[in-house]
Amino acid sequence: MALHIALGAFKSTPIISSHAESGVMPFSIYCMELDCRLLHRISALPSSHPVSSLYCLSTVLRQPPTWPRVRLPYIIRSIRACHTLSLDLPRPVPVAPLPPVPPSKDLSPYVTPYFPVPFSKSTYAVLVRQLYYSMDSSVYKDFLRIYTDGSHSLPSSFASAAYFEDLSICQTWSFSGQYDVLTAELIAILQALEFIRTFLQPQSVVLYTDSQSALTLLLSDRPVTHVRTVHAIMEHLLFLVTPPWHLRLQWIPSHVSIRGNKIADAAAKRALTSSTLVHVTPDSATFPKLARSACISHWNAHLATTLPASHLGCFRSDASEHPWARHPYGDIDVAITRLRLGQTGLASHLYRLGMIEHPWCCWCPQVEETIEHLMLWCPRFHSLRTLLRERLSSLGVLSLSLHTLLGGGIEDPRLRERVVRCTSDFIQKSRQLSRI
Ligand SMILES: [Zn+2]
Repeated sequence: MALHIALGAFKSTPIISSHAESGVMPFSIYCMELDCRLLHRISALPSSHPVSSLYCLSTVLRQPPTWPRVRLPYIIRSIRACHTLSLDLPRPVPVAPLPPVPPSKDLSPYVTPYFPVPFSKSTYAVLVRQLYYSMDSSVYKDFLRIYTDGSHSLPSSFASAAYFEDLSICQTWSFSGQYDVLTAELIAILQALEFIRTFLQPQSVVLYTDSQSALTLLLSDRPVTHVRTVHAIMEHLLFLVTPPWHLRLQWIPSHVSIRGNKIADAAAKRALTSSTLVHVTPDSATFPKLARSACISHWNAHLATTLPASHLGCFRSDASEHPWARHPYGDIDVAITRLRLGQTGLASHLYRLGMIEHPWCCWCPQVEETIEHLMLWCPRFHSLRTLLRERLSSLGVLSLSLHTLLGGGIEDPRLRERVVRCTSDFIQKSRQLSRI
């Protein structure tokens, strides 16, 4: 009902078309997303928490003999939602509610997520490289240099690399699953810090990374994503910034041919195809994002089978945004939406609803007033239609069909927008907005 009001659509509009046209996910699928997100939160609870133990126990309850649908336990419902969306269940890994860094300790002097000299994307790579070398030879003159990088290849392979320039060592780690590149960047930093703590003597070390978001995340008081990995890095940082250690994390721009960064990048890319690697298991930080995209995919799969049976199926097969079908003026936007949904105030539709006595056009006796009749055939609007045809011909659109007029079957988004704008002008000049 609210969707119908928001779209300006008739009550008789199929609800599935209203959802697809508005981009608002059906409530049942949205509930599945919420179930998955809350399951992710449960998986991060301490093992002593009663709900957490229930989640662990539920592994034996996933195939219960019978669960009455209305009384399905919450965790079972969430697990089933994950299965429906083809998502791996989040592993129960407790995450500390507070970071290991005490409030009195400020990490910002040790983590620099920016370049000492401001520059823009249009700055020449040669100049950026010179700035880097100048910083490297002054600020980090006597430091041991380490470069880290993360890489990924579709569909789900990830690799992290750390290049220890002064030791001529390059370490790589790989993992696969439902993660993002930020996870790979954080894993590279974490593994490099573990290596430093385990194998090196206390000294001055600078770790260069090209991931600004990773360093920004490390500086946040309460990280909301990648919490477990960030906490582990913070713990190492606390140790390695205390004398006799002297550690700095410094951001450097990528793709400007800085030698160490190039070597780490190449190593991470090579690690994606190698099978003899150290495997690591990151936390499921990207799970909420994955749950969202899985729900959208599930919804689109549902629309692909149901929308073709509706009038809207001529113009869309999924729930993707169609900004070119929108108009800045509300009444014209509503008219275009109703024409796309196939539910209008024209006589044929009102007659089907039993609201009027005949479906005929006001100007054409014994001819049904359908959307096609109004837009393509009614002689009342012949001169306007001729003008419309000329405008479309000048854009290179030669066929005049309802499908084309409302943006269907045109690949170029800019052309599609112009065609819909011509159609809007036709509707506005025909003075039939109030009837549509
Ligand atoms: Zn007519």
